[in-house]
Amino acid sequence: MNFELTEKQKLVRNSVRAFSEDVLGPLASSVDRDAIFSWEAANELSKINAWGIQLPEKYGGADLDSISYAITIEEISRVCGATGLGLTVHNSVGAYPILKWGTEDQKERFLYDIASGKKITGFTWTEPNAGSDAAGIECMAIEDENDYILNGSKIFVTNGGVASVLLVGTKYKKKNGETGMAAILVEKDMKGYEIGKKEDKLGVRSNLTTSLYFNDVRIPKENILGKESDGFKIAMHTLDVGRIGIAAQALGIAQAALEHSVEYAKGRVQFKKPISSFQGVSFKLAEMATEVDAARLLVYRAAHAKDTKERFSKESAMCKYYAGDIAKKVTLDALQIHGGYGYMKDLPIERYVRDAIVTSIYEGTSEIMKLIISQQILRGNI
Ligand SMILES: Cc1cc2nc3c(=O)[nH]c(=O)nc-3n(C[C@H](O)[C@H](O)[C@H](O)COP(=O)(O)OP(=O)(O)OC[C@H]3O[C@@H](n4cnc5c(N)ncnc54)[C@H](O)[C@@H]3O)c2cc1C
Repeated sequence: MNFELTEKQKLVRNSVRAFSEDVLGPLASSVDRDAIFSWEAANELSKINAWGIQLPEKYGGADLDSISYAITIEEISRVCGATGLGLTVHNSVGAYPILKWGTEDQKERFLYDIASGKKITGFTWTEPNAGSDAAGIECMAIEDENDYILNGSKIFVTNGGVASVLLVGTKYKKKNGETGMAAILVEKDMKGYEIGKKEDKLGVRSNLTTSLYFNDVRIPKENILGKESDGFKIAMHTLDVGRIGIAAQALGIAQAALEHSVEYAKGRVQFKKPISSFQGVSFKLAEMATEVDAARLLVYRAAHAKDTKERFSKESAMCKYYAGDIAKKVTLDALQIHGGYGYMKDLPIERYVRDAIVTSIYEGTSEIMKLIISQQILRGNI
């Protein structure tokens, strides 16, 4: 077992950290306040190949391993959690399934523009009546000659306001009576595709979360990923991948909160001493640092498992559950250490708290992660 990053992984960390601090740092607070997506930042992200982190060079991607991927999302989220979210969703649950299950034609049609950031992508499964119960979706695609006609609606779509192509989960019905669940690629310029309201959110505000409506959208069969009946399997496997990225996002937010807290505790003087000299504060810092480190180990282990194992549901669920939960705790601890100043918007601490909360909700809540972990261990995968 090797706990050292490779030279390339260290280089990724250093370069993405420098980029994030220089380019995203000056924007992070204002895009959060105004809840706007920064196309300026999106263009800059293209220059470091962040829209195609794991796509092969053949399609214009950076072709990095999964630990480098996690490091990239972690470093970007350390500065701007909302940008980390948009990127991880685009790369993991948007681009990845096209690479894994797409036909060569689908890869040629979509992956170049996805890798360059010209086309932003995402994954939309959740509906008003189907959240944790992913099998309960009601969108329906009915076969019609060489197409499917899609009707229904989706909610809480990350990148929804800016995506050009999305993986959409739907039930389907064929002329021969076959029914099931399919994963289809729906494009923004298709007739009947309508973007709904932009959500006004607590955190990750500069990512444009929207609802979507499909009104008789004609989907050519060339836009189905895998076989029609593969949809649910594709979604579950894709979420295993996605959760590593969400965990890396949570980790980056928690790391930022820890670093700020250490600096603040050393500099803030009360009772004629730095507050770091009080055990009530320094022990809190010790707990935070340990939790952040433990989350990092789980995230990198899951990333390594993705590169080396066929299935990694347990590792992925564990890192998402743990990193999401400690991100909430560590950011709240950071706020407490900053006292009243931490509560004010002049400092980024309250943004970290707001951004951390949702990491234990999307791509499966912490309760659903525990369900996956317990099912795995009870089956003997301990
Ligand atoms: C900002 C944001 C962005 C999102 N982006 C996307 C996206 O891009 N694509 C997408 O498809 N979805 C997205 N989602 C949706 C997200 O994945 C769901 O919100 C999440 O899966 C939970 O579903 P729900 O909100 O319907 O809650 P529910 O499923 O109604 O759950 C409510 C509560 O009940 C608990 N619960 C439910 N079932 C069980 C159970 N069996 N055992 C124990 N507890 C249970 C849950 O853990 C939760 O605490 C996003 C959500 C948010 C907030």
